[in-house]
Amino acid sequence: MSRKNRKKTAIVIGSGAGGATIARELQGKYRVTILEAGGDFKPFSLPIRKLARLRKSGMFFDERLIRLLLPNMLVEKSTDMVLVRGIGVGGTTTLATGNAVRCDGALKELGIHLDAEFDELYHELPITTDHQKHWTKATQTMYALFEQMGLDPVVTPKLLDASRCVGCGHCAIGCPTGAKWDVRRLIDQAVARGARLLTGCRVTDLAIQGNAVTEVHARRHGKKFYLRADLVILAAGGLGTPVILEHSGISCDKRLFVDPVLCVAGPLPELHQEQQLLMPFISQQDGYILSPYMDYLSFFFNKDWRLPMEHIASVMIKLADEEIGSTNGRKIDKSMSTNDHARMDKAVAQCREILSRMGVPPEKQFLGTINAGHPGGMLPLTTAEKDTLHNARLPENLYIADATLLPKAMGNPPILTIMALAKKIAAGL
Ligand SMILES: Cc1cc2nc3c(=O)[nH]c(=O)nc-3n(C[C@H](O)[C@H](O)[C@H](O)COP(=O)(O)OP(=O)(O)OC[C@H]3O[C@@H](n4cnc5c(N)ncnc54)[C@H](O)[C@@H]3O)c2cc1C
Repeated sequence: MSRKNRKKTAIVIGSGAGGATIARELQGKYRVTILEAGGDFKPFSLPIRKLARLRKSGMFFDERLIRLLLPNMLVEKSTDMVLVRGIGVGGTTTLATGNAVRCDGALKELGIHLDAEFDELYHELPITTDHQKHWTKATQTMYALFEQMGLDPVVTPKLLDASRCVGCGHCAIGCPTGAKWDVRRLIDQAVARGARLLTGCRVTDLAIQGNAVTEVHARRHGKKFYLRADLVILAAGGLGTPVILEHSGISCDKRLFVDPVLCVAGPLPELHQEQQLLMPFISQQDGYILSPYMDYLSFFFNKDWRLPMEHIASVMIKLADEEIGSTNGRKIDKSMSTNDHARMDKAVAQCREILSRMGVPPEKQFLGTINAGHPGGMLPLTTAEKDTLHNARLPENLYIADATLLPKAMGNPPILTIMALAKKIAAGL
């Protein structure tokens, strides 16, 4: 084949929200190879009740051990919180609770308009609020209470086939029925159209000459190898992409945000909140959201959470944190600022009030472990890149298509916005 007629090649690094979307969009225009550090996703399949009894033995002493039970969940620690992400095909979307919320306000302020891309997503994806029909008594009671308190709860749009949801509450540890949609379906579509997926393939760095990436360096089965392509897309996530860039001589900004989560909980006999869809509705507050959520990490690893799950009422706070922090692959430097703490304290007081009104005595209420699963922002888009979506620090044939591009913490579920952005980037290539 003549060089002129040769189909161009693209390497997509990472198969999460951004990577899967752009791989599916590009396959056909390019011959796409997806390099994914992890393997296939395996949902949590052990009996939770039996495991819960082992909490007394002290064997669950460090959140990082969760990987022994759920190999695709990577937990790391910074000074004052644990950070959670998915490593494997589908990235962190396999651990997501399926919330499909549009939150592109900060991008719009930069002049980046994603209406067309969101329209496509609403057309292509199974986004529904149909689950409301299947709500448990506990969910209905909590929703009514939020309304009474003027918290304006909104039924969460979910990436879900509600008719297949069995209400097991396992959304964030692997949906057992396939009711929850995640981006593995896009990877399947890309592969069906001819894309190549290499799992267990950890990209270490990029070789750059002049203004182009000439090689992608990776390790697979303990061996180093390299690949070449016309176009390289980095989508290794908010904690993965900056590390590959730093190792390739491109510095990022110390603007890491993570959306810290804290659950406020307490005893409420036979509530059975664990049998409800996680985050069935959301209350948007100034700089944070509130939503019912059974926090598995705290349940297993926090000594204050010793009750059986069926007797726990739990409300989540998810905060839009200040964009201060970084990672270099060895260490994650992230802690909550004074402002973050002040807003979190206000939210905790609100949650305590909710629980008290539900019948949980104030003195019996307890807090969860601060954890975070929305890392991003270390090479954010600015007005200078509003048309190209390409940072001038990057070589011409290198693009980013993940949460690293987001300009601000959203304190809200980012998957849909990352996917819309990835679509727009693909369209421009
Ligand atoms: C428990 C939990 C629940 C969540 N629920 C929701 C929700 O309901 N709705 C929502 O919108 N958001 C949710 N999120 C957040 C959302 O899942 C992430 O923000 C989103 O998936 C980030 O997309 P991404 O493309 O930036 O990265 P990811 O989806 O994390 O994908 C990054 C991919 O890159 C791979 N990778 C990393 N390093 C390398 C490397 N060196 N070489 C090759 N591959 C690499 C990873 O294995 C991964 O597959 C949740 C997060 C958590 C932790």
